[in-house]
Amino acid sequence: MVIPDIIIAIDGYSATGKSTLAKEIARTLGFTYLDSGAMYRAVTLFAMEKGLIKGSKVDEPALREALSSCPDIHFGEGNKAYLGERCVEKEIRSMKVSSKVSPVAALAFVRAFVDEKLHEAGSKGRVVMDGRDIGTAVFPDAQLKIFVTASDEVRARRRFDELVQKGTPTPMEEVLTNLKERDYIDSHRETNPLRQASDAFVLDNSDMTLREELTWLQGVLQGRFGILQ
Ligand code: C5P
Repeated sequence: MVIPDIIIAIDGYSATGKSTLAKEIARTLGFTYLDSGAMYRAVTLFAMEKGLIKGSKVDEPALREALSSCPDIHFGEGNKAYLGERCVEKEIRSMKVSSKVSPVAALAFVRAFVDEKLHEAGSKGRVVMDGRDIGTAVFPDAQLKIFVTASDEVRARRRFDELVQKGTPTPMEEVLTNLKERDYIDSHRETNPLRQASDAFVLDNSDMTLREELTWLQGVLQGRFGILQ
Protein backbone atom coordinates (compact mmCIF):
# COMPACT_ATOMS: atom_id res chain seq x y z
CA MET A 1 0.00 0.00 0.00
CA VAL A 2 1.24 3.50 -0.82
CA ILE A 3 1.16 5.78 2.20
CA PRO A 4 0.62 9.43 1.27
CA ASP A 5 3.39 11.92 2.11
CA ILE A 6 1.48 13.44 4.98
CA ILE A 7 2.57 15.36 8.06
CA ILE A 8 1.18 14.12 11.36
CA ALA A 9 1.17 16.76 14.10
CA ILE A 10 0.88 15.52 17.67
CA ASP A 11 0.44 18.35 20.17
CA GLY A 12 -0.64 18.51 23.76
CA TYR A 13 0.24 19.11 27.38
CA SER A 14 3.51 18.13 29.04
CA ALA A 15 4.11 14.46 29.80
CA THR A 16 1.04 13.16 28.03
CA GLY A 17 3.14 10.52 26.28
CA LYS A 18 3.07 12.35 22.95
CA SER A 19 6.58 11.34 22.03
CA THR A 20 6.07 7.65 22.82
CA LEU A 21 2.99 7.60 20.60
CA ALA A 22 4.63 9.71 17.88
CA LYS A 23 7.76 7.51 17.79
CA GLU A 24 5.73 4.36 17.56
CA ILE A 25 3.44 5.56 14.79
CA ALA A 26 6.41 6.94 12.84
CA ARG A 27 8.09 3.54 13.11
CA THR A 28 4.95 1.76 11.94
CA LEU A 29 4.50 4.03 8.92
CA GLY A 30 8.21 4.31 8.08
CA PHE A 31 8.06 8.08 8.67
CA THR A 32 10.65 10.33 10.28
CA TYR A 33 9.95 11.27 13.90
CA LEU A 34 10.81 14.76 15.06
CA ASP A 35 10.70 15.86 18.69
CA SER A 36 10.32 19.65 18.65
CA GLY A 37 10.43 19.80 22.46
CA ALA A 38 13.95 18.35 22.36
CA MET A 39 14.99 21.30 20.20
CA TYR A 40 13.69 23.82 22.73
CA ARG A 41 15.39 21.81 25.45
CA ALA A 42 18.70 21.84 23.54
CA VAL A 43 18.50 25.61 23.03
CA THR A 44 17.80 25.96 26.77
CA LEU A 45 20.82 23.83 27.67
CA PHE A 46 22.94 25.92 25.32
CA ALA A 47 21.70 29.13 27.01
CA MET A 48 22.31 27.70 30.49
CA GLU A 49 25.84 26.62 29.68
CA LYS A 50 26.58 30.06 28.27
CA GLY A 51 25.42 31.53 31.60
CA LEU A 52 22.53 33.36 29.94
CA ILE A 53 19.84 32.30 32.42
CA LYS A 54 19.95 33.70 35.93
CA GLY A 55 17.18 32.30 38.12
CA SER A 56 14.17 32.49 35.83
CA LYS A 57 15.56 35.49 33.95
CA VAL A 58 16.85 34.97 30.42
CA ASP A 59 19.36 37.46 29.04
CA GLU A 60 17.42 37.95 25.82
CA PRO A 61 19.79 40.19 23.82
CA ALA A 62 22.74 37.94 24.67
CA LEU A 63 20.83 34.77 23.76
CA ARG A 64 19.62 36.29 20.51
CA GLU A 65 23.21 37.00 19.58
CA ALA A 66 24.58 33.69 20.86
CA LEU A 67 22.08 31.68 18.80
CA SER A 68 23.98 32.53 15.63
CA SER A 69 26.82 30.38 16.97
CA CYS A 70 24.62 27.63 18.45
CA PRO A 71 25.98 24.23 17.42
CA ASP A 72 23.74 22.28 15.05
CA ILE A 73 20.85 20.59 16.86
CA HIS A 74 20.14 17.21 15.35
CA PHE A 75 19.13 13.66 16.21
CA GLY A 76 21.26 10.54 16.09
CA GLU A 77 20.57 6.87 16.59
CA GLY A 78 17.55 6.13 18.76
CA ASN A 79 16.40 9.75 18.28
CA LYS A 80 19.02 10.96 20.73
CA ALA A 81 19.50 14.72 20.66
CA TYR A 82 22.88 16.22 19.73
CA LEU A 83 24.20 19.70 20.17
CA GLY A 84 26.96 19.72 17.57
CA GLU A 85 29.07 16.61 18.16
CA ARG A 86 27.85 16.12 21.68
CA CYS A 87 24.99 13.84 22.69
CA VAL A 88 22.91 15.86 25.15
CA GLU A 89 19.97 13.50 25.51
CA LYS A 90 20.45 12.98 29.23
CA GLU A 91 21.06 16.64 30.11
CA ILE A 92 18.08 17.98 28.18
CA ARG A 93 15.70 15.64 30.03
CA SER A 94 16.96 16.73 33.47
CA MET A 95 14.79 18.75 35.85
CA LYS A 96 17.36 21.54 35.59
CA VAL A 97 16.49 22.01 31.92
CA SER A 98 12.78 21.24 32.42
CA SER A 99 12.56 24.08 34.92
CA LYS A 100 13.97 26.65 32.46
CA VAL A 101 12.71 25.53 29.07
CA SER A 102 9.29 27.20 28.97
CA PRO A 103 10.52 30.78 29.52
CA VAL A 104 13.14 30.21 26.81
CA ALA A 105 10.57 28.68 24.44
CA ALA A 106 8.28 31.68 24.99
CA LEU A 107 10.76 34.00 23.24
CA ALA A 108 9.69 34.82 19.68
CA PHE A 109 13.25 34.73 18.31
CA VAL A 110 13.86 31.31 19.84
CA ARG A 111 10.65 30.03 18.26
CA ALA A 112 11.68 31.43 14.87
CA PHE A 113 15.07 29.70 15.24
CA VAL A 114 13.47 26.32 16.00
CA ASP A 115 10.64 26.72 13.47
CA GLU A 116 13.11 27.15 10.64
CA LYS A 117 14.65 23.77 11.48
CA LEU A 118 11.23 22.14 11.83
CA HIS A 119 10.14 23.45 8.43
CA GLU A 120 13.32 22.16 6.85
CA ALA A 121 12.75 18.71 8.34
CA GLY A 122 9.06 18.52 7.53
CA SER A 123 8.81 20.16 4.13
CA LYS A 124 8.73 16.88 2.22
CA GLY A 125 6.13 15.25 4.46
CA ARG A 126 6.37 11.68 5.77
CA VAL A 127 7.05 13.04 9.20
CA VAL A 128 5.49 12.75 12.64
CA MET A 129 6.25 15.81 14.73
CA ASP A 130 5.27 16.32 18.34
CA GLY A 131 5.14 19.53 20.35
CA ARG A 132 2.80 22.31 21.41
CA ASP A 133 2.13 24.33 18.26
CA ILE A 134 2.85 21.97 15.36
CA GLY A 135 -0.75 21.75 14.17
CA THR A 136 -1.60 25.38 14.93
CA ALA A 137 1.51 27.30 13.86
CA VAL A 138 4.38 25.24 12.45
CA PHE A 139 2.36 23.10 10.03
CA PRO A 140 -1.21 24.46 10.18
CA ASP A 141 -1.95 22.48 6.99
CA ALA A 142 -0.79 19.17 8.47
CA GLN A 143 -3.07 16.48 7.09
CA LEU A 144 -3.58 14.88 10.48
CA LYS A 145 -3.58 16.61 13.86
CA ILE A 146 -3.85 14.91 17.19
CA PHE A 147 -4.21 16.76 20.50
CA VAL A 148 -3.22 14.65 23.48
CA THR A 149 -4.34 15.21 27.02
CA ALA A 150 -4.38 13.28 30.31
CA SER A 151 -5.12 14.04 33.96
CA ASP A 152 -2.48 15.89 36.01
CA GLU A 153 -1.97 12.90 38.30
CA VAL A 154 -1.43 10.46 35.46
CA ARG A 155 1.01 12.79 33.72
CA ALA A 156 2.98 13.42 36.91
CA ARG A 157 3.14 9.69 37.65
CA ARG A 158 4.44 8.96 34.12
CA ARG A 159 7.12 11.64 34.31
CA PHE A 160 8.05 10.56 37.86
CA ASP A 161 8.52 6.94 36.70
CA GLU A 162 10.53 8.10 33.69
CA LEU A 163 12.89 10.10 35.92
CA VAL A 164 13.34 7.12 38.27
CA GLN A 165 14.09 4.90 35.28
CA LYS A 166 16.70 7.37 34.06
CA GLY A 167 18.42 7.30 37.44
CA THR A 168 17.35 10.83 38.43
CA PRO A 169 14.53 10.31 40.94
CA THR A 170 12.70 13.55 41.69
CA PRO A 171 10.00 14.19 44.33
CA MET A 172 6.48 13.79 42.91
CA GLU A 173 5.52 17.24 44.18
CA GLU A 174 8.35 18.86 42.21
CA VAL A 175 7.43 16.91 39.07
CA LEU A 176 3.77 17.94 39.29
CA THR A 177 4.62 21.59 39.97
CA ASN A 178 6.96 21.66 36.97
CA LEU A 179 4.32 20.18 34.64
CA LYS A 180 1.71 22.70 35.77
CA GLU A 181 4.11 25.62 35.48
CA ARG A 182 5.16 24.62 31.98
CA ASP A 183 1.56 24.10 30.86
CA TYR A 184 0.68 27.55 32.19
CA ILE A 185 3.58 29.34 30.49
CA ASP A 186 3.14 27.32 27.26
CA SER A 187 -0.58 28.16 27.09
CA HIS A 188 -0.24 31.83 27.99
CA ARG A 189 2.77 33.00 25.98
CA GLU A 190 2.20 35.54 23.23
CA THR A 191 3.84 33.69 20.37
CA ASN A 192 2.16 30.49 19.23
CA PRO A 193 0.75 29.37 22.57
CA LEU A 194 -0.31 25.80 23.22
CA ARG A 195 -3.84 25.45 21.83
CA GLN A 196 -5.94 22.65 20.49
CA ALA A 197 -6.30 23.10 16.71
CA SER A 198 -9.97 23.25 15.73
CA ASP A 199 -9.47 20.36 13.32
CA ALA A 200 -7.50 18.14 15.74
CA PHE A 201 -8.63 14.74 16.94
CA VAL A 202 -8.53 14.74 20.73
CA LEU A 203 -7.00 11.82 22.56
CA ASP A 204 -7.40 11.63 26.35
CA ASN A 205 -5.07 8.77 27.22
CA SER A 206 -5.45 8.93 31.04
CA ASP A 207 -6.79 5.38 31.12
CA MET A 208 -5.24 3.95 28.00
CA THR A 209 -2.28 1.70 27.33
CA LEU A 210 0.09 2.51 24.47
CA ARG A 211 -1.37 -0.41 22.52
CA GLU A 212 -4.88 1.06 22.90
CA GLU A 213 -3.61 4.48 21.79
CA LEU A 214 -2.03 2.96 18.70
CA THR A 215 -5.22 1.08 17.84
CA TRP A 216 -7.15 4.35 18.21
CA LEU A 217 -4.68 6.20 15.99
CA GLN A 218 -4.68 3.47 13.39
CA GLY A 219 -8.47 3.74 13.30
CA VAL A 220 -8.15 7.47 12.63
CA LEU A 221 -5.54 6.87 9.90
CA GLN A 222 -7.72 4.26 8.29
CA GLY A 223 -10.79 6.48 8.40
CA ARG A 224 -8.97 9.50 6.95
CA PHE A 225 -6.51 8.00 4.49
CA GLY A 226 -7.43 4.35 4.14
CA ILE A 227 -4.07 3.44 5.65
CA LEU A 228 -4.20 -0.12 6.96
CA GLN A 229 -1.26 -1.52 8.89
O1 C5P B 1 7.78 18.17 24.69
P1 C5P B 1 8.63 18.60 25.86
O2 C5P B 1 7.93 18.49 27.17
O3 C5P B 1 9.97 17.97 25.86
O4 C5P B 1 8.87 20.15 25.59
C1 C5P B 1 9.62 20.95 26.48
C2 C5P B 1 9.15 22.38 26.40
O5 C5P B 1 9.46 22.92 25.11
C3 C5P B 1 7.66 22.62 26.58
O6 C5P B 1 7.27 22.71 27.93
C4 C5P B 1 7.49 23.96 25.86
O7 C5P B 1 7.87 25.03 26.70
C5 C5P B 1 8.50 23.87 24.74
N1 C5P B 1 7.89 23.51 23.47
C6 C5P B 1 7.24 24.49 22.75
N2 C5P B 1 6.75 24.23 21.51
C7 C5P B 1 6.87 23.00 20.97
C8 C5P B 1 7.50 21.97 21.71
C9 C5P B 1 7.99 22.25 22.97
O8 C5P B 1 7.12 25.62 23.22
N3 C5P B 1 6.41 22.78 19.73
